[in-house]
Amino acid sequence: MNKVVKLALISKVKDKDGNDVKYGDVCKILWELQRQTREIKNKAVQFCWEWNGFSSEYNNLFGEYPKDKDYLKNKSEGKPIVLRSFVYDRLKSDYYLNSSNLSTTTSLAFKEFKQYLTDIRKGERSVLNYKNNQPLELHNECIWLESNNGKFITRFSFLNKAGKDFYSIDNFTFEVIVKDNSTKTILERCIDSIYGIRASKLIYNQKKKQWFLNLSYSFEAKEIATLDKDKILGVDLGIALPICASVYGDLDRFTIKGGEIEHFRKSIESRKRSLLQQGKVCGDGRIGHGIHTRNKPAYNIEDKIARFRDTANHKYSRALIDYAVRKGCGTIQMEMLKGITEEKDPFLKNWTYFDLQQKIEYKAKEKGIKVVYIAPKYTSRRCSKCGHIDKDNRLTQANFLCLNCGYKENADYNASQNIAIKDIDKIIIEETKGGES
Ligand SMILES: [Zn+2]
Repeated sequence: MNKVVKLALISKVKDKDGNDVKYGDVCKILWELQRQTREIKNKAVQFCWEWNGFSSEYNNLFGEYPKDKDYLKNKSEGKPIVLRSFVYDRLKSDYYLNSSNLSTTTSLAFKEFKQYLTDIRKGERSVLNYKNNQPLELHNECIWLESNNGKFITRFSFLNKAGKDFYSIDNFTFEVIVKDNSTKTILERCIDSIYGIRASKLIYNQKKKQWFLNLSYSFEAKEIATLDKDKILGVDLGIALPICASVYGDLDRFTIKGGEIEHFRKSIESRKRSLLQQGKVCGDGRIGHGIHTRNKPAYNIEDKIARFRDTANHKYSRALIDYAVRKGCGTIQMEMLKGITEEKDPFLKNWTYFDLQQKIEYKAKEKGIKVVYIAPKYTSRRCSKCGHIDKDNRLTQANFLCLNCGYKENADYNASQNIAIKDIDKIIIEETKGGES
C-alpha cells in the first residue's frame, strides 16, 4: 500500500568543499533541473509519438505491429532495445539528471502517454505538453533519510557526473520540518525500514518560495510468520453489535458492544433537542439572523459526531486487528457493505460502516493480514452449523435459532461464523439455487 506525505524542507546544501550553498543558488540549480525535466518529458513523449506513428505505418504495410526485436537491435550485445532504453540512450548525455532519476522521469512520461493515447487517437486531447514547473522525479534509491540530534535530515542525489562537476555539488541535503507526531512516526518508520521509500517528487511552491518533498512510502506487508493465511477471521459489522468476529468453529469471539455509541447518541440527541429549543425560543442573541444562524450550535454537533465516530472507529479497528493477530489469522473476511441503508434507525444508518471498514482494511494491511470481501447475502439467515437458510431462523434481532437443527446462538456471532468460511458467498449461491426455503 502506497501513501504520500508532504514535507516542507529547509536547505542545508553544501558544495564539494563543505561550504554552505546560498538558498538562492540552490533554487537556481533546482529550477534548472525542473527545466531539464520538462524537456526530458516532452522529448520522451515526442519519441513515443513518433514510435506510435511508425508502428501504425508498419501495421498498414505488414498487417501487424512491429516487435522490438524486428528493428531495434543493440548490435554489440545482440539484445533487443525497447523504446525505453532507446530514449534513455538518446537523452542521457544531454542532461544533468543521473541515470536513476532520468529513467524515473522518462518512465513517468511513457506511462502518461500510454494513458492518454486512446484519447489522443480519438482526438479528445492533444499530445501531452509539460509545463516548466515540473516536479523533480526522485528514484527511491536517490533519497536518504536520517535522524540527527532529534532533527530529520533528507538527502537527494540528482546529478550525474557532468552535473556534479558543473555545480560542484554531490548531494542535496535538507532538514525536514516535522509538523506533527504522525509525520514524525512516518519518518521514523521509513528510517527503520518498517516502511519502504518509493519514487517521490520534489516540488517548488511558488507562493511560499519553498521546496517540498512529496515522500511516497509503502508498508510492504511484512509477513508475520505466525499468521496463517488459511485461518480466516469472519468479521460481521452489524446491527445489535457494531463488530462481532470469530474464527470458524471457535466459540471465542471478538465483540464491540454498542453501549458506548448508544450512550453518546443519547447525550447528543438530548443536547440537540435542547439547543434547537433554545434557538426557537430565542433570547440568546442568535435571534434575527435567520434560521441557519439560530440553529448553528446544532450543526456544530455534526462535527462532534464525526470526531467521536473517527476516534471510536480507530479504537475498534485497532482492537479487532490485535485480536486477529492473537488468533494467528492471516486473512480477514468481511461483507461488502450491506444493507445499512435499509436500517430504520437513523443514527445507525449514519454510522459510517464504510469508515470502519476502511480503517480495518488499512490496519490489517499494515500487519500483513489479507482482507477478503464477500458478497453480502443470507449470512445472517444461514445456520452456520448445518447450512440451513431460512428467514425465520432469526428469532429476534439479537438471537438466532435454526429451524432445522435447533442451533441457538447470538445472531451476530452466527453471522460471523458464516463469514469466516472460505468462499461462503459461492457456497450460499449453491445452497440457494433451488430458492430459499
Ligand atoms: Zn442448523
